[in-house]
Amino acid sequence: MTAKGRRGVTAQLDRAAEACARDGAELTELRRSVLGLVLEADGPVTAYQLLDRLRKIRKGAVPPTVYRALEFLLEHGLIHRLERLNAFIPCAETGHRHVAQFLICRECGSVAEIEDQAAARALVHAAERKGFRARDTVVEIEGTCAACARAA
Ligand SMILES: [Zn+2]
Ligand SMILES: [Zn+2]
Repeated sequence: MTAKGRRGVTAQLDRAAEACARDGAELTELRRSVLGLVLEADGPVTAYQLLDRLRKIRKGAVPPTVYRALEFLLEHGLIHRLERLNAFIPCAETGHRHVAQFLICRECGSVAEIEDQAAARALVHAAERKGFRARDTVVEIEGTCAACARAA
């Protein structure tokens, strides 16, 4: 990562700490380290990759250490879990929980986040017509990103 990229991560971590404080929660040093690793990753990162990387800065980190930190970060809307990839990405909109759809490129593995309220509402209504009360309407769409489509 470049020096400029690192400064960007530091600024994002500071914004995340402020967002947690507004929620009455604390972005502890451990949570901050795990969020930093998610931010520094080139793409979606799994819990085990995070554990490996965390062990370089925190000897003795065990899986529950990482899982608890990830739980906290999910709860405060700082990261998202991609079910399809069983991996995590930073939230593009630090610190506000929101409906999200993810565009997963099969060629380069990049993931883009979009927030389409109308699409989420349409799914809730479609579920309601079946008498189903939707709790979560995360959508993961697989395909080819714009950059890969141009390169093809
Ligand atoms: Zn998000
Ligand atoms: Zn791509």
